[in-house]
Amino acid sequence: MQIRCTNCHRPFAISKETIYFALDTIHEDGLNHYNAQCPHCRRANRLSPKQLKRAAPDWQPGGSTEEETEE
Ligand SMILES: [Zn+2]
Repeated sequence: MQIRCTNCHRPFAISKETIYFALDTIHEDGLNHYNAQCPHCRRANRLSPKQLKRAAPDWQPGGSTEEETEE
């Protein structure tokens, strides 16, 4: 996932692993965004769950990404 820093306007990539971690953190802690740190200027960029889920549509609450039977 490629995002543009709101502070220095330089693009940087966020790994799928980080996206899953961010979604888990948001879900578990009841947050409404996740702070992704820009590697260029080290400012935090707010990522909304909506944005993150678009990048990881197969993410599911509960931490497990294993395929399990759907209800
Ligand atoms: Zn930056």
